[in-house]
Formats: sequence, C-alpha cells, structure tokens
Amino acid sequence: MKYEIWVDNGVADEFESASHSLNDVLDEYCQEAGYSDHAAACETLGFTDDSPFNIRAIESYEPGICDACNGSGEGMHDGTTCSTCKGRGEA
Ligand SMILES: [Zn+2]
Repeated sequence: MKYEIWVDNGVADEFESASHSLNDVLDEYCQEAGYSDHAAACETLGFTDDSPFNIRAIESYEPGICDACNGSGEGMHDGTTCSTCKGRGEA
C-alpha cells in the first residue's frame, strides 16, 4: 500500500508500507527519518498538542492488476492472451 505523507505546508512524500494502520505508517515514516516513532518526532520538532504530519492512502494504487490489459488477461486481438501477464490479469 502506498501512502502520501506531508508536513503542514510541506511537499508530499510517497511512502510505501505493508501496514494498514495510518498511525503505524506514520511511525514507520518517522523511524526512517531517524526518530524513534511519530510521537517522538512531534515532540522533537516542538509539536506537543497537534501533529504536523498528514497522511493519506493513495487510492488509485492497485497492486496486482496488470497495467497492459487492466486485469482482463486478454490480448489486443480476440482469442489472444495478454503477453505482459500471460493471461493472469495480474502484474
Ligand atoms: Zn495483462
């Protein structure tokens, strides 16, 4: 799952995580930035009440669907199979 994380007024960063909890993803993100977790990052940066971090899942990202055939598994012509995914419809 891909997420977009940004600090208030900042540029969004793309971050990939296997976690489905937004709080866990923020923890991982802050850990990669060198903090022990999200709360520690807020504290270090001087945000004690409100986190400056924003996060959202990138909805359009669908792992597993073949881009070439959009998941149908069919090739360009009738009766053929997609050469990219070999007809499985998955990337
Ligand atoms: Zn395909």
